[in-house]
Amino acid sequence: MALTIAGSDCGGGAGIQADLKAFRARGVHGTSAIAAITAQNTRGVSAVHTVPLAHLRAQIDAVFDDFPVAAVKTGMLARAAAVRLVARELRRRRPPWTVVDPVMIATSGARLLDPAALDALVGELIPLADVLTPNLPEAEALTGIAIRTRRDADAAAQALRAMGARAVLLKGGHARGTEVVDRYYDARGVLEIVHPRLRVEGHGTGCTLASALAAELAKGAAPRGAARRAIAYVHKALAAGYRPGGGDVVVLRH
Ligand code: PLP
Repeated sequence: MALTIAGSDCGGGAGIQADLKAFRARGVHGTSAIAAITAQNTRGVSAVHTVPLAHLRAQIDAVFDDFPVAAVKTGMLARAAAVRLVARELRRRRPPWTVVDPVMIATSGARLLDPAALDALVGELIPLADVLTPNLPEAEALTGIAIRTRRDADAAAQALRAMGARAVLLKGGHARGTEVVDRYYDARGVLEIVHPRLRVEGHGTGCTLASALAAELAKGAAPRGAARRAIAYVHKALAAGYRPGGGDVVVLRH
């Protein structure tokens, strides 16, 4: 049983829609609390409507009051007040596992988090993360470290762990090269997971990764194994991906 607290993508490629597909594909019952409703398709995001806080809270309560939630994944929360509310709810409900995907900007360039929410993310939500799953631009925005080398990546991950994230899965998809190097940092050190780079522009890969990871944790996998499996799943789903609309982006085949 897993819960995603995130944004809706009416185009079905990312957000809540991707999360629920990933939960289903990984064999866990998926529940959702929608924080924002985007209007988007394969060409980009045209509008964002934030869900009133009272209703975001009502969704989270409805899920926790009835279901044994084993893992929570947070994604697009859009604004500081929602980040704070979600952090408050997680402190109160104490789910066994929390995966925080610090969603900020879509591949298309659309802003998915108010910059004023960064402080709340760092101060309130990141300390609750069992696994934080930033891509390189998000890790740079959160730490102020420009990541160009392996040492920069290590320093950024260390800074994120110092903010309170128990583990950091730093996704290498935005770097260059023929391989994608994802790095999982925890108290034991760093685990590198390497895949050949697929020559496609994926849409919803980050959402799917964080959700697949939450699903594996919900099923009882240890975090390092869960990270490995989630990355392998995204790679496979992207390799089998397809273009559902007129845009160039590929969505995952779950
Ligand atoms: N839309 C929503 C609701 C999302 O949560 C996200 C990513 O987290 C995106 C769009 C962006 O997806 P991508 O950057 O993979 O295109």
